[in-house]
Amino acid sequence: MLPWTTYEAMYNAAINQPEQFWLDAARRVTWEQPPVTACHARADGWHDWFAGATLNTCHNALDRHVQSGRGMQAALIWHSCATNERHIITYQELLGRVSGFAGGLRSLGVGQGDHVLIVMPTMVETVIAMLACARIGAVHVVVFAGYAGAELAQRIDDVAPKVIISASCSFQGRKVVPSAPVLDAALATAKHRPLACVVVQRPACPAALMPARDYDFHTLEHSAAVDPVSLRSEDPLYILHTSGTTGTAKGIVRDNGGHAVALALSMALIYDCKPGDTFLTTSDLGWVVGHSYGVYAPLISGCTSVIVEGGASASAIRALCSDYKVRCLFTTPTQMRLMRQESRHLSGVILPALAHIFVAGEYADPTLLGWARSYFRKPVVNHWWQTETGWSITAHFFGLEEQEPAALQNDIGRPAPGFNPVIGPNLPHEPCGEIVLSLPLPPGCLAGVWKEGAIRAPTVYLDETGQYYRTFDEGMIDAARAVHMLGRSDDVIKVAGRRISGVQIEKIIASHPAVHACAVVAVPDDLRGQRPVAYVVPLDAASPPSCEEITGQVSHALGRWVGLREVRFVRHLPTTVSGKIRRRSLSVCS
Ligand code: AMP
Repeated sequence: MLPWTTYEAMYNAAINQPEQFWLDAARRVTWEQPPVTACHARADGWHDWFAGATLNTCHNALDRHVQSGRGMQAALIWHSCATNERHIITYQELLGRVSGFAGGLRSLGVGQGDHVLIVMPTMVETVIAMLACARIGAVHVVVFAGYAGAELAQRIDDVAPKVIISASCSFQGRKVVPSAPVLDAALATAKHRPLACVVVQRPACPAALMPARDYDFHTLEHSAAVDPVSLRSEDPLYILHTSGTTGTAKGIVRDNGGHAVALALSMALIYDCKPGDTFLTTSDLGWVVGHSYGVYAPLISGCTSVIVEGGASASAIRALCSDYKVRCLFTTPTQMRLMRQESRHLSGVILPALAHIFVAGEYADPTLLGWARSYFRKPVVNHWWQTETGWSITAHFFGLEEQEPAALQNDIGRPAPGFNPVIGPNLPHEPCGEIVLSLPLPPGCLAGVWKEGAIRAPTVYLDETGQYYRTFDEGMIDAARAVHMLGRSDDVIKVAGRRISGVQIEKIIASHPAVHACAVVAVPDDLRGQRPVAYVVPLDAASPPSCEEITGQVSHALGRWVGLREVRFVRHLPTTVSGKIRRRSLSVCS
């Protein structure tokens, strides 16, 4: 039960009485030593949440649910899009496997504070490895399994793991990709040497284990079970490197206590999920959404988490939602566009248990959201996230009794509790600009960055006053507190000194019925400084819309000054490994 019925009451409570608000929220978590203070200023200028309190995140995700009678409930449902396999693991079973594997890690010499690098696709064993680290106080560093050897080597050297855990193979579509060549190449170039490598042998392509270096994951799972250790709230739970779109890879450090509290509250407040409900995320476990909503938030909340290996088709998502009575689906606009394409061959869908759908990670145009609403016949909303924040900065709050105003449905929503977004405070008269967040950030956000062998205050994110966290995203905030996103600060195009965001133009183009996807980038213009160029993927390559239709639609909606004259039709847009459109590489080739 939530103590507020309206957004204003909830948001104001968090801003006006933060200590009380977060100490109340902390009751959603089981502590060994409960907190007596919420936010604590650190000597390095950053802040800790619930300092002095102790808990174990794995205990909160597993043991306490088994103790309260949820042992036979499904904790995890895994679906492979490559092999069509499914596994269901109860809380009891997951607890047994995690505590055994935690014992296995200990037997390899891993202890509290040690780093364990996990380079694996979305699998049950990935979750087991993460939770086993949490159980013994080791810090997991999950690396997306699609990275090449050089990226992996850089992360190995950055965090110096005692142990590396990998799977013998992953899948690209249905193609089997052996993992050993990538890991071996990374280890050949990295300066750091782990004590051991642990391999999950997959039947599709078992690996040859190297004696004295490699250990079998499933054998280690049978080690003597270990109990969860007591950790300080501020002790690190994991490090996750940010994706390429956010500049050079930085190791974002997440704590134990603040993270558990923020995620537990978000499940009730934002996603309206109670213990026993089922949550599906299509995110790979290598990204922040996979960490937060594939693993920790649903399990801490006693829900069933459905995780998916590989790019899920519309029919697979429909089947999973229907078979497991999914209450909340969390996906990306890219995935949604793929579903739209595929669903042309599928009939309408009836999913009585599904309450709402969230997307995040990139701009979602109203046309796409409108399609998803009519396809699923459920509320579909977008919310704003960063790896650094660990949960949504702005969102829609389905746990509150008050209905969301309809005017908000196509935008990224209003600030989540404790987030106080401001438009660049040094530009007081500008209606739009970079969105900064006043400090302290709420629990769950970055506890620091991993740099040169230590956790440091994230000063790289602070503005010149030292009082605001820079999001590097541009937007506007309206009188109802709703935040409107215009894209990264580096997406803004200046045409004859006037500011226009590429995303704003994309919104217009995406509403054309013959457009599947698009990206707008800036190119130099002799007369006006910059001009926009649009890259458009037509819905049907055989009958693309005309260039004039697109440019006409944009100048009709935004004015001729925008000056879009050039439309390049392409088959695909370049994307980062996490599925975001790589606008910078389009700019380079324009
Ligand atoms: P990452 O940390 O790599 O997940 O990327 C975070 C960035 O993705 C943000 O700074 C935004 O630029 C973008 N992003 C995340 N959520 C949204 C959203 N709902 N709408 C538009 N952009 C988003």
